[in-house]
Amino acid sequence: MKDHVKKQLEEIRFKISEAEKKSGRLPGSVKLLAVSKTFPPEAVMAAYEAGQRMFGENRVQELESKAPALPRDIEWHLIGHLQSNKAVKAVKLASHIHSVDSLKLLQRIESLAAESGRLPSILLEMNVSGEESKFGISGEDEALRIAEQSLKCSHVRLAGLMTMAPLGADETELRKVFSGLRTLRDRIESSLGTKLPELSMGMSQDYETAIAEGSTIVRIGTAIFGGRSAQ
Ligand SMILES: *Cc1c(COP(=O)(O)O)cnc(C)c1O
Repeated sequence: MKDHVKKQLEEIRFKISEAEKKSGRLPGSVKLLAVSKTFPPEAVMAAYEAGQRMFGENRVQELESKAPALPRDIEWHLIGHLQSNKAVKAVKLASHIHSVDSLKLLQRIESLAAESGRLPSILLEMNVSGEESKFGISGEDEALRIAEQSLKCSHVRLAGLMTMAPLGADETELRKVFSGLRTLRDRIESSLGTKLPELSMGMSQDYETAIAEGSTIVRIGTAIFGGRSAQ
């Protein structure tokens, strides 16, 4: 397990740097978020020992059960759908929340962060592909409205946008979804006169395409830790 994780991490870091070069991006402009959901703390430690510090979990309960036993300098990112009633723990444990998809959730995070003296970074999750089954904000107007409110919140830092491409999408569709998120980001930046540096897009199957379209955070699980049984 340990050697496998180390080897996979090295390979992915290499492929990320190749993808950066290929699309004229600066070296180091893409961060690797290791998605450890369903994998035990030992798997996280194997990646940690290979130098990885940013980890992603999609469920609050799992984050809660894993984080306390692991090194304190791990930066935890919550990437899965977050219900308001679980936001207390999310704000306590995660430095980044990638799945903010409503005004209600934003306001909940803001008030919890104020109470606990934390300053979480948030990303707005966008449903770019328009799939019915997906979480995320649909439409530019709604995204603008939530982004604008985020800027008024003094206990969250609006870092950028996040999206997921449809499962099994072909290259053309991937390009469309990823460039769609980037375009939306650019429009929000110019409407609100603010910078949204992070684009969280790209997973094991499609991260190289996402990097070509401007991704700054790739969220990779399977390609590092191996396959997951159905959750
Ligand atoms: C599981 C998950 C990932 C990682 O997916 P892989 O295909 O295993 O790389 C990325 N983002 C989100 C939101 C996820 O839930």
